[in-house]
Amino acid sequence: MAPVKLGLVGIGKIARDQHLPSLSRSDDFDLVAAASRNAGVEGVANFTSTGEMLEAMPDIAAVSLCMPPQARHQVAAEALAMGKHVMLEKPPGATLSEVEHLAGLAASHGVSLFASWHSREAPGVGPARDWLKGQRILKVTVTWKEDVRHWHPGQDWIFEAGGLGVFDPGINALSIVTKILPFPIWLNEAGLTFPQNRQAPIAADLGFAGPNGETVKAEFDFRQTGPQTWDIVVETDGGTLTLSMGGAKLAIDGEDRPLPPEAEYDGLYARFAALIAAGDSEVDLSPLHHVADAFLLGRREFTEAFHFDPPAGS
Ligand code: NAP
Repeated sequence: MAPVKLGLVGIGKIARDQHLPSLSRSDDFDLVAAASRNAGVEGVANFTSTGEMLEAMPDIAAVSLCMPPQARHQVAAEALAMGKHVMLEKPPGATLSEVEHLAGLAASHGVSLFASWHSREAPGVGPARDWLKGQRILKVTVTWKEDVRHWHPGQDWIFEAGGLGVFDPGINALSIVTKILPFPIWLNEAGLTFPQNRQAPIAADLGFAGPNGETVKAEFDFRQTGPQTWDIVVETDGGTLTLSMGGAKLAIDGEDRPLPPEAEYDGLYARFAALIAAGDSEVDLSPLHHVADAFLLGRREFTEAFHFDPPAGS
């Protein structure tokens, strides 16, 4: 099959770190254009809006959207209505109902919508899911702590309404948990810590229950300096499974399992191509459901103001 002509939208950190390198390796896609208000991609046609790009280049069949979630629905809806396949960065939107609207649009226009979860492509996730199928799961402990100043320098959108705050990385953990556990879980307690000058939390403590008394505890924090932690520990009657480094490492009872190298975004683009070829969509909203539940159920407390750069004079 000829490569699918693709336009990339929202040229910022993740577009440059991951999408461009993966697209340059992909046989499935031909990156022909980019749309971004303030940035461009060398060697392709550049536009400042998606509408302008799709009008000027009608042979573009797919778009991949890398802007923050608050800006995604309008652009995705426009592209789907023009009959384009759409891949969404995580989280797929700022609300559940806007993504459900997109799924309906994709179905009615006969195109593919892929709500991607890059952490599910981490090399340890598939083997962890397979191993857990044979075990009785007792307890899951998630620790996801990173330094927002290092990973999201100056990204004020993350602390604006709809930016999710610490759930921006935390939803990656939830995307793995919902992939590896063979049963549904539901939130039964949550504590959210908001900087007094921000609209989204900087830390969260969550508790979930499973159908047979299983417990899932998750601790997310954006204030971690020094070593960073992206760990999921699953205690079972057959041993303890540890996924660390965001799913890049897997150990059973402390013994490392051999895994292929990390290739999350290559995996996402291969999946997007397979969905297009099959005429399917993939829109699993379960990680975003848990985040929405945390905002519904969470006790709120406030902490000191957060600034990416220390205020002048401090
Ligand atoms: P970013 O660099 O701050 O934003 C990407 C680009 O989106 C911006 O450079 C901007 O380009 C465009 N944009 C369009 N509307 C915007 C708006 N309303 N506010 C701010 N920018 C807007 O963010 P990012 O780190 O790439 O993250 C984008 C998405 O990827 C998020 O959903 C995030 O969760 C996900 N993601 C990020 C990472 C990571 O390591 N950073 C990892 C995995 C996934 P123009 O101004 O040129 O339009």
